[in-house]
Amino acid sequence: MNFRLFVRSTIMVMSLLALMAIVASGQVKPGRDPKQPIDEEYTQKIREYTTEPFFNSPLTDYLPASKTVPTPKAVLGDVAGAPGKLPYSAEVYRYLRMLEKASPRVKVFSIGTTEEGREMIAVAVTSEANLAKLEENRARLAKLADPRTIKLDDAEAEKLVTASVPVYYITGTIHSPETGAPTALMELAYRLAVDESPYIKAIRDGVITLITPIVEVDGRDRQVDIYNWHLAHPKENWPPLLYWGHYVAHDNNRDAMGMTLKLTQNVLKTFTGWKAQVLHDLHESVAYLYDNTVGDGPYNAWIDPILADEWQMLGWNNVSEMTKFGMPGVFTHGTFDTWSPGYLMFIAAMHNGISRLYETFGNAGADTLERTLSPQEYARTWYRQNPPLPKARWSQRNNNNYEQTGLLTALSYFSANSRVFLRNFYLKGKRSIEKPKTEGPAAYVFPADDARPGAQAELLRLLQLQGCEVSRATAPFTVTVSAKKKTGRPTAAEGSGETQAGVQRRNEPTTETRQFPAGTYLVRMDQPYSRIADALLDYQYWSPNDPQKNVYDDTGWTFGELYNVQVVRVTDVKVLAAPMQKVSGEVRAPGGIKGNGQTFMINHNADNALMTLRYRLKDASIEATESMLNINGQKFNRGSFIVRNVPAAELERVASELGLQVRAVDELPASSKTHPVRAARIAMLHTWLSTQDEGWWRLAFDQLQIPYSYISTQEVAKDDNLNAKYDVILFAPVGRGSPQAIISGLPMWGNPLPWKTTELTPNIGKLDSTDDIRPGLGWSGLANLQNFVRRGGLLVSVMDTANLAVTFGFTPGVSIAPPQRLKSTGSVLRSKFVDPNSPIAYGYGDNLSVYCFDGPIFNLSNMAGGRGGRRRTGEDRDRPTGRGTPDDPDTPQARPVAEAPEEPKAEVWQAVPLTDEQRRNGIYIIPPEARPRVVLRYADAKDLLVSGLLDGGAEIAQHPAVIDVPVEKGHVVLFSNNPLWRGETQGSYFLVFNAILNFDHLNAGRKLDEK
Ligand SMILES: [Zn+2]
Repeated sequence: MNFRLFVRSTIMVMSLLALMAIVASGQVKPGRDPKQPIDEEYTQKIREYTTEPFFNSPLTDYLPASKTVPTPKAVLGDVAGAPGKLPYSAEVYRYLRMLEKASPRVKVFSIGTTEEGREMIAVAVTSEANLAKLEENRARLAKLADPRTIKLDDAEAEKLVTASVPVYYITGTIHSPETGAPTALMELAYRLAVDESPYIKAIRDGVITLITPIVEVDGRDRQVDIYNWHLAHPKENWPPLLYWGHYVAHDNNRDAMGMTLKLTQNVLKTFTGWKAQVLHDLHESVAYLYDNTVGDGPYNAWIDPILADEWQMLGWNNVSEMTKFGMPGVFTHGTFDTWSPGYLMFIAAMHNGISRLYETFGNAGADTLERTLSPQEYARTWYRQNPPLPKARWSQRNNNNYEQTGLLTALSYFSANSRVFLRNFYLKGKRSIEKPKTEGPAAYVFPADDARPGAQAELLRLLQLQGCEVSRATAPFTVTVSAKKKTGRPTAAEGSGETQAGVQRRNEPTTETRQFPAGTYLVRMDQPYSRIADALLDYQYWSPNDPQKNVYDDTGWTFGELYNVQVVRVTDVKVLAAPMQKVSGEVRAPGGIKGNGQTFMINHNADNALMTLRYRLKDASIEATESMLNINGQKFNRGSFIVRNVPAAELERVASELGLQVRAVDELPASSKTHPVRAARIAMLHTWLSTQDEGWWRLAFDQLQIPYSYISTQEVAKDDNLNAKYDVILFAPVGRGSPQAIISGLPMWGNPLPWKTTELTPNIGKLDSTDDIRPGLGWSGLANLQNFVRRGGLLVSVMDTANLAVTFGFTPGVSIAPPQRLKSTGSVLRSKFVDPNSPIAYGYGDNLSVYCFDGPIFNLSNMAGGRGGRRRTGEDRDRPTGRGTPDDPDTPQARPVAEAPEEPKAEVWQAVPLTDEQRRNGIYIIPPEARPRVVLRYADAKDLLVSGLLDGGAEIAQHPAVIDVPVEKGHVVLFSNNPLWRGETQGSYFLVFNAILNFDHLNAGRKLDEK
């Protein structure tokens, strides 16, 4: 062998070895560097607070010492995870900034603020060399993230992969009662900055670890308040954490589609801004470490299959490494379907990264407790060969050990395989860009002639917020689209056999050409973040026969449908050649005044900005038209605004800001009937049982700048003249609130549970406060609410609060049928307007997609009291046993044949007309003017499902969805759908707004029954 050959083969062997080190990850042995001293005192405390040696690992059973860098003890006064220590966000940040000051390997970035103005941060920990070249590295990652910048050149990408350091983003404590992550992450940052062991050094050199120690900062500070209250009152019960974030509790981890919360926006900006490869979110509700990313089926249908593979690689490596450490209860798979893209971690899945989520085991505070698991939790299963113990003493330190050990093994594996993951990152981006040519579609098209330009612009802004590019056609263009189906999709029952409708569907043409006008918006799919647009705008189908029976969250979300905006899925790649320009700023609907005249008219198109306008122009006099008008060729829907007493300049300014088109006209047709649209005084009513679902209502109202008072059931209980303060009371869904629970509140035994601002609890009691959260609405509250309606108020009630109104007799003639088979698990269902003259229907077309979670199923009757149920009419009653064929009448023998009188008939959403028998003594007959008025009903069974899971849909098909019930001078409006949900249902907001704006004229356009 000559020298050259020797060198070459040596190099080959060396690179082979290097390759082996990469492929066979975790080959760097975990454990401390014996040359580096340890912090003896800190290490001793770790041992003391860990309840069993096997609840720790060689990665976290010691703390390396540093002469210059402070340990978490500097702020905590004890070690991370110590009993009784739960730091506020300010303390956590103070420590991380001390770390930044003391170590050249740490840098803290401010990433935005919360709704209540608290700061959110991200801390980068990596080698000095990596930290010095953050920007160069980011520039390389940016090219991999958007392969268009390198013309999809794989060779160029490979060079970038070799030169780049990946970013692994860890987020802690989004769920406030899951309290362990901040201290675990403080210590993790210290270890990554200080430890000189080969294991940690390899991570530091190979990865940029980015840490947001607290995602829900507002909730964290409240949770620490509660914990401190508990420490100060050791023998007493403590109040549950009623408010986490400013708006929502647990649902803060369901916002990655709607992007309405600051925390979601800030994490998304950080993830995409850093061009990170992983988003790893920490939770604490399963013993002892459950990596739920691998989860269970069904998987989200829009992820790149590469991601499913990455989940497996990372998840099983975690299990493998920690199992080798002898730590019990580490597993992946388990209960969790990976369908909904609403979870925070899914920001990564939908933006070409890797989403990950740990559930470790927390004690909701820093007490050390004896914890007993259920047999299901400690059972050995195929995916959990070393399950958690049935019973164990458990400490926050144990939790911190598991969190850190899991993360360190993950970082080690990720660092060793960084090229694989960077290559995948590039490939996922490239495949997103190639979408039009592969699976499609080529683009989503938002026609310029949409009836709701405001809603259209809002949906497009959401896509921009998600990182999508939006383009606008500069000229008309024609493409092939799939033909509109004239018949609905098959129902489950219809699906098996070939039906007439099925044959008809097959024979319909499947495509047609369609021209879109100039000004039409397009979201092209040949862009790196096409995946999120596709996932949000496409339709979802969850089979009723899916083996997954424990559906984890909502199953449908199609945003075009829920926003009530036209969205056309175009697979014809010709669409990409249409003349268009990329929109540079935010998409805005055009607004302002057009025409000449003394009267200002605004067409009612159910754009939410109309509601903002009413409250912005507080002193203007606004009237609504009760019929459709045509003025100088311009069409105005029912409910259109006539605006007076406002200077043209002011109206022009507000209308352009809000994207509303105002028409100045000379005069109105003399015959047109109108009524005033007052800026009603609104109260948002909440219980002290749960505040989350009403939080989504508050959020929508705040975003649209609609003022309201925020009151609790306890205030209603005390106030017998609610009409003096309010015109409208909105009782949003409580979530799990039975009518009895809303009345009773929490059990009254034990100590009072205050929710108040005090020196000990400075962060709670700001949104609302009480000395004791236990008392509920009570009977007095119920009576006050009822009197409020009788005297002319409007009560809007939804799902479980509608159940309260029905159960306690607010709404004679309405009953609720218990579901037998119905399953509509957060699905999108079609509904139809049955009374377009009702002010609640103003601005809408003839149908609307709504969010429905199992009803309630409303029935109507013209009889009050126990006779409220729905009579089965002749048509749906089976004939009795007797002579003849199934269609024949029975014939009693030995007497003349008697002709049966015709049975009264009614549609499912209507009350069955009264019979003469019932009218003879009409004690229970509801007078026509007091009868419930159905505004919106669910569609027929075959058209009902829009997106998601629907089983047994016939049970709710055609039943009322929105009912307006007159009660003396006032009204109760009942909702079966939830019109304001997670910032996703903008299209149905106006059902509520219409009710509010017309609260004192809800009977407009009403046709009464004759008898
Ligand atoms: Zn959680």
